[in-house]
Amino acid sequence: MPGKFISKEVENLFQKVVKRDPDQKEFLQAVEEVFQTLEPAVKKRPELIAVLERLAEPERVVSFRVAWQDDKGEQHVNRGFRVQFSSAIGPYKGGLRFHPSVNLSIIKFLGFEQIFKNALTTLPMGGGKGGSDFDPKGRSTNEIMRFCQAFMTELQRHIGKDTDVPAGDIGVSPREVGFLFGQYKRLRNEYAGILTGKGLTFGGSLIRPEATGYGLVYFVEEMLQDKGDSLKGKKVAVSGAGNVSIYAVEKCLELGATVLTVSDSKGYIYEPEGISKELLDHINDVKVAKRGSLSDVKTTSNGKYLDGKRPWGLDGGKYDIALPCATQNEIEIEDAKALVKAGCKLVAEGANMPSTSEAIDYYHQNKVEYGPGKAANAGGVAVSGLEMSQNSMRLNWTSEEVDQKLKDIMKAIFKSCKEAADEYNTNIQGGANIAGCLKVADAMIAQGLY
Ligand code: GLU
Repeated sequence: MPGKFISKEVENLFQKVVKRDPDQKEFLQAVEEVFQTLEPAVKKRPELIAVLERLAEPERVVSFRVAWQDDKGEQHVNRGFRVQFSSAIGPYKGGLRFHPSVNLSIIKFLGFEQIFKNALTTLPMGGGKGGSDFDPKGRSTNEIMRFCQAFMTELQRHIGKDTDVPAGDIGVSPREVGFLFGQYKRLRNEYAGILTGKGLTFGGSLIRPEATGYGLVYFVEEMLQDKGDSLKGKKVAVSGAGNVSIYAVEKCLELGATVLTVSDSKGYIYEPEGISKELLDHINDVKVAKRGSLSDVKTTSNGKYLDGKRPWGLDGGKYDIALPCATQNEIEIEDAKALVKAGCKLVAEGANMPSTSEAIDYYHQNKVEYGPGKAANAGGVAVSGLEMSQNSMRLNWTSEEVDQKLKDIMKAIFKSCKEAADEYNTNIQGGANIAGCLKVADAMIAQGLY
């Protein structure tokens, strides 16, 4: 895999990582992006090479068998993972993903990104990620519950409120977090904040479900304000129709923007006059509550469902801002070209690594402002951090308090990205990686490299 590096040392280090796991393409994509953007920092601080070599190798990788029975009594075996990437600045923290595409490469890319994202939140959280290749689609609630119980029966020995605190991600919503939490409690006889994203009656935080979507839009406001602009009156294309995108759309509407699209893996809805709050509630009901398909949503008479398409070309329409909130590599080079052609001037990522490296290069070449996921979608894990604080103190903050803290954190994240970008003469993407990495690096060096 040829990298685009200036420094020979960084290039050599990347080749070492490639040699170790040549087939882990998502993981290598994430490492290459971070290494490239860190070159100006390595130039100033050569000791960072030793830090990066350590950061590219997880502290611990756990892989386990998850055996469970479906409703007909048939036996299934899935593979479970927990990758404990870095505990330099706090307990491992990061979600669990249940999706048939899950493999070690995907969990490692997500865990690697999580190190820098969590460092940016200003809260003391290390980086980790887990999940399974289990496909929740079409499974009954009882099957989901049995799977979660089997998964936690193995995972419980590796986590703890001061060790590793998982949460949700794709395929793991509050329902699954509840089943996982119950099983931990039964097995360990301990009522502890070992997961975040819990239900409100058993230690969850207000605003946690909304946090990634709201935080994304707060981050976009910061990016726009920096250029003397705002969201008011902007046209926005959003992908995804899960927790991240639903709350991103809601916050965009609140701040006076028009949202033209939402999507799922099969197609997208295009509403030329904009998605109303009523339509959003209906989409939420079909997609999130009933776990159905977007094609079942009743659009307005001007709106339509475009089967088998991604939203970025917008069927020839125009928009200002793209918020990819679905999954990794959902914007490939052709999508990036379509997005620029549609007039888009800003991309901020609600999903993790939704843009391929070619797409990111294309944004920069075409002067599209780019807010990378590890900064723009950090609101979710930030409120997870606030849930951990509330659990430790055994009290609950109001939604106003949590929302204000979330706003302040997104502001602080943008500020540190911008300051690092200015100091190292780079953009917000580079600034995010440099600011996140330096915090972790300083902690590692202070604790003694080994
Ligand atoms: N899965 C989310 C993320 O990608 C949240 C993780 C968490 O709350 O721990 O950041």
